[in-house]
Amino acid sequence: HTLKLKSFPADSKLVRMTFAEPTIRTVLITGGNRGIGLAIAEEFVAQGHRVAVTARSGEGPAGSLTVRADVTDAASLDAAFTEVEAAYGPVEVVVANAGITRDLLLMRMNENDFTDVIDTNLTGAFRVVKRASKGMMKARFGRIILVSSVSGLLGAAGQINYSASKSGLIGLARSVTRELGSRGITANVVAPGLIETEMTAVLSDEVQADYKKSIPAGRFASPQEVAKVIAWLASDDAAYISGAIIPVDGGLGMGH
Ligand code: NDP
Repeated sequence: HTLKLKSFPADSKLVRMTFAEPTIRTVLITGGNRGIGLAIAEEFVAQGHRVAVTARSGEGPAGSLTVRADVTDAASLDAAFTEVEAAYGPVEVVVANAGITRDLLLMRMNENDFTDVIDTNLTGAFRVVKRASKGMMKARFGRIILVSSVSGLLGAAGQINYSASKSGLIGLARSVTRELGSRGITANVVAPGLIETEMTAVLSDEVQADYKKSIPAGRFASPQEVAKVIAWLASDDAAYISGAIIPVDGGLGMGH
């Protein structure tokens, strides 16, 4: 090992590049107490970052800081960010993960079913991004990752509210990219397909089997498979990716 190093001058760029450590960031994930959000938090903790999660109930994983917040309530989010900033410093990576479904066919969907889902999934992400952007603009660094869905690209019968909210995240990320891209801030969308969490556990066996037939990979994914992609998007290696939609769907949404 010493011999190898000796062949390069100490200030050589090659030495610095070869041995560069990944940057440790302050990361905040909404809805980090279960499902995909919990897996995302676990992955960032495993990579050595300072991790905070928002939760309405329950706790984030060991090694993370749990703060209470409801994404439909801007004041609770503001307080949660303030608590995280006091403990860990400004939030550098934010993952807007909290989301709900309220599946109904159009004929049965009332206005509250629509607006409640938009308020959590889309306006909730807006509130999170707006609060996070303050510190990011000051630091001239930020990674914003929005958890969308293949439904936002393909549409889904019974999910007019959910699909609309998830498509909206694409416009949000791309407009943020245009507004804040020159300040070292990236904003990207991750679009999972069918992931094994409580959200999909409620689907009947028949519906699950139907989905599996249409997924080229022939299976649902684990939450960890989504978490790994999100952690990579937050890494130094993904600095030049912004306004992108990264599918994690086993090929289900190909081409969209
Ligand atoms: P879960 O239902 O397992 O978890 C949802 C999370 O969101 C929980 O932590 C929940 O908190 C939180 N949450 C919901 N509403 C609010 C709110 N108003 N304020 C704060 N937190 C809230 O879902 P998944 O883990 O499966 O989904 C996570 C994200 O991934 C969602 O955005 C979902 O749309 C998306 N997604 C999921 C897919 C899947 O197949 N599972 C596929 C594609 C996208 P609490 O425990 O307090 O309810």
